[in-house]
Amino acid sequence: MKSYASFREIQNDLQRGTISCHDLVRHYLSNIDEKAHLNVFLSVYADEALSRAKEIDHKIKTGTAGKLAGLVVGLKDVLAYKDHPLQASSKILNGFISQYNATAVQRLLDADAIIIGRQNCDEFAMGSSNENSAFGPVLNDIDNTRVPGGSSGGSAVAVMADMCQVSLGSDTGGSVRQPAAFCGVVGLKPTYSRISRFGLVAYASSFDCIGIFSKSVEDVALVLEVIAGADEFDSTVSLQPVQPYSEALHTGNTQKKRIAYIRELTSEALQPEIRENIFRVINKLKQEGNSVEEVEFPLMDYILPTYYILATAEASSNLSRFDGVRYGHRSERTTDLESMYKKSRSEGFGKEVQRRILLGTFVLSASYYDAYYTKAQKVRRIIREKTKEILKKFDFIVMPITPTTAFKIGEHTDNPLEMYLADLFSVQANVVGLPAISIPCGKDKNGLPIGLQVIADDFEELKLLQFSKYIIGLNQ
Ligand code: GLN
Repeated sequence: MKSYASFREIQNDLQRGTISCHDLVRHYLSNIDEKAHLNVFLSVYADEALSRAKEIDHKIKTGTAGKLAGLVVGLKDVLAYKDHPLQASSKILNGFISQYNATAVQRLLDADAIIIGRQNCDEFAMGSSNENSAFGPVLNDIDNTRVPGGSSGGSAVAVMADMCQVSLGSDTGGSVRQPAAFCGVVGLKPTYSRISRFGLVAYASSFDCIGIFSKSVEDVALVLEVIAGADEFDSTVSLQPVQPYSEALHTGNTQKKRIAYIRELTSEALQPEIRENIFRVINKLKQEGNSVEEVEFPLMDYILPTYYILATAEASSNLSRFDGVRYGHRSERTTDLESMYKKSRSEGFGKEVQRRILLGTFVLSASYYDAYYTKAQKVRRIIREKTKEILKKFDFIVMPITPTTAFKIGEHTDNPLEMYLADLFSVQANVVGLPAISIPCGKDKNGLPIGLQVIADDFEELKLLQFSKYIIGLNQ
């Protein structure tokens, strides 16, 4: 079977009867099997997906199928799928089975999507390379000696290697956009609170967003309109109505746009091919009559520290629930209650997660709270105000998503700070809560994909998706 560029093509073939959902699931299962060495899936729900495919084929025949009938989806191992394992790629959740569906997962199922499996990621979504998983690294399908990005590396490779049509991941500081860039696929992080976080394993709750991977902007738009919106189980979710993204995408928006790009795009620290490719797009945008201007973002140096102070603080609090008492890993070497907590947590959490818990506990400790945590909250507010000021004058901000293309496995593992620096461009959208997308933008001399990031104002997903489609058109 061919690999489909978009779900629309799949739907056409399903309607025509040239393929069935059952064929599709078999196709993805055989790719998963063939590329098992990439270490993408932690569980594959083969029998279940095949029998569900049969049911949905029947619904298609009888004209009762939902909007996503035939869409085969993979879930990052941070999303609850009832009666299926969930462990955020961590030993501490060994044996844990979800008791309920995440709202996003429930909405996919209600629309007749088929869930094919659970995808490997960095432990508790902490990482930028997928090397922090308790189940080993995921490999990049283009070059197996390189990382796929992280933390949703498995979800990006699954789409790249045609193991499912769409993946759901999570983006707390870039974990959907960065692996999308390293793997040459589209990755959307919507506005904070656009999609319910109910059933998403918490890392840093004021940053966490469910995000969507696919090969096409159209698929992302369609899935977003199904899973976004009000939810009684998440009090932080926005009540703003969800727009019909997928339909409106085709009506297009032909008005000329005002686009800002950040000065750092000219920086020497950026891999030259990334700079060249993004400037190629910028020049095309200008030729088409859009106005494009360089802007200086005065707080650039503060974004990454702000993110790492606040995200680790929230993580240290969120992860305190994993104590080996009611579920998950419990050490067998315990002598008393305190040693049970200590040993279970020391054995259950990997090194990076432990580092984040320690950092977060430190910045929240009584003597340092004001110096770090309170200050970072204030800086976060200023960064948001400054970013919003830019978006008053411009429709979009264009920037790289990563300073380099996919790096070698092991290249940054000895130096956590170096790894954190790889998040330089991705964390801003999370710090301020704005929607951002990574779209493929050419390749470097080694044939490794380059991503282009576009940020829009709050709840302007539709505009962002329309513009992304337009840029992809320009690039062809
Ligand atoms: N790389 C970032 C981190 O490790 C982002 C992770 C994420 O978005 N989940 O915190």
